[in-house]
Amino acid sequence: MDIFTDIKKYFQENLDEPSYQKWVESISYIGCSADIVFLGVPNASSLNWFKNNFGKRINEHLKQSRNLSVRFVSIDEDECESITETRSIIKKKMESNLQKKYTFDSFVQSDSNRIAYSFAYSVSEFPGKSYNPLYIFSDVGLGKTHLLHAIGNRIISNSKSLIPVYLTTSDFMNEYVEFTRMNKRPEFIKKYTSIDVLLIDDIQYITRWGGTSEQFYYIFNSLIQQEKQIVICSDKHPDNIPDLENRIRTRFEMGGIADILPYDLETRIAILKKKIKERKKIIKTDFIILDEVLYFLASTINDNIRKLEGSLNRLLGYADLKFADKKDTTLNLAFAKEALKPIIDITKKTVTIDTIQEFIAEKFSLKTTDLKTKNNSPKIALPRQIGMYLAKKLTKSSLSEIGYRFGGKHHTTVLHSIGKIDKLMNEDSDFLKKVNSYVSFFSE
Ligand code: ADP
Ligand code: MG
Repeated sequence: MDIFTDIKKYFQENLDEPSYQKWVESISYIGCSADIVFLGVPNASSLNWFKNNFGKRINEHLKQSRNLSVRFVSIDEDECESITETRSIIKKKMESNLQKKYTFDSFVQSDSNRIAYSFAYSVSEFPGKSYNPLYIFSDVGLGKTHLLHAIGNRIISNSKSLIPVYLTTSDFMNEYVEFTRMNKRPEFIKKYTSIDVLLIDDIQYITRWGGTSEQFYYIFNSLIQQEKQIVICSDKHPDNIPDLENRIRTRFEMGGIADILPYDLETRIAILKKKIKERKKIIKTDFIILDEVLYFLASTINDNIRKLEGSLNRLLGYADLKFADKKDTTLNLAFAKEALKPIIDITKKTVTIDTIQEFIAEKFSLKTTDLKTKNNSPKIALPRQIGMYLAKKLTKSSLSEIGYRFGGKHHTTVLHSIGKIDKLMNEDSDFLKKVNSYVSFFSE
């Protein structure tokens, strides 16, 4: 039985027919979060009537049968001027465990997250109707949790009737254990089969505790059958989660699957800019951060965006200490290097061909893919040769490895390229300076 029918039935059993007609016919179902059901009543007097006569009793009933409590919300037209206002009042009264700052607006799109973004957006537009379940996976710190909250936040702002529930797989398992301990397994199932939208994070942990995946499977199927939206995030493709039951794996793969790949330098800089812009909304006078600093951060920390944000915060924290009263101070590269020295010392060891290629592409306004083609036009060939030179000098890669990564070149070609850069450096002092500044960028 769905939750609203259950509630109405309860009233029917506890009221005579005229009272039922008078009061209960006019209530509407607003939505259900992890532990609260929201019911709309037409006006303040109706609200009082329910609170006085049933406030406690209905909660006791629901607590027993589903471990939920009820919240009555007045949707009186007089109380607010317009429908939109009514909705925003209801929304304010709704409780949800979503982080408001994670929205589609604050998420930077790029080639590497294009599909995940568009699937997620479509799910927030048509919950339960486009990709169900939606499964998003990627390495850590690339925006899965952000997208999960963005879906939830957008569903809330689009619809007054759906309340998304966000939870991690560990929350889910802990709660299951708790319910089991209290001998209340059926209530656990009832609770989760009555929610509107399930956003579940880090599903790769589901296999750790045997019994939970059984319950999850049941809840999962029930929600899908009711066309309720499920979104799942994971650090792995379902095929790569060890010990995942086959029937669950198959279910995960029946909606939409999208991955997020690591971001290129340009996108990492765009993300930093976005974060700074968001911060400026809160802090009016803030530091001015030069592009060279952003470039430095984004090229030094090239995988995990959480780390990248961490380094930005560290920089700003350091600036706070140093320039306490001078909020409009400009932060330059030298300052950034000083502030981030401890972090960079760690990352310094991990100069890779990828970072070098990104660096060169940025410097010469090329794409990293240009460096990996056979195209030998001077505009591309020289930057590529500089890239090979840096790779030899700064990484442990062999000549053939370097050749392979720069468009499948033979190791003798790499040797030739390095020789050419050496020669140019000897002949042209400007060029020498330039290449040396690249080297010191990575090794300082
Ligand atoms: P994951 O769940 O994949 O480990 P998160 O969603 O927790 O990663 O992201 C880590 C941090 O990086 C968050 O603060 C998030 O806002 C930020 N982030 C990641 N990708 C993007 C993006 N494309 N645009 C804006 N911020 C991003
Ligand atoms: Mg996450």
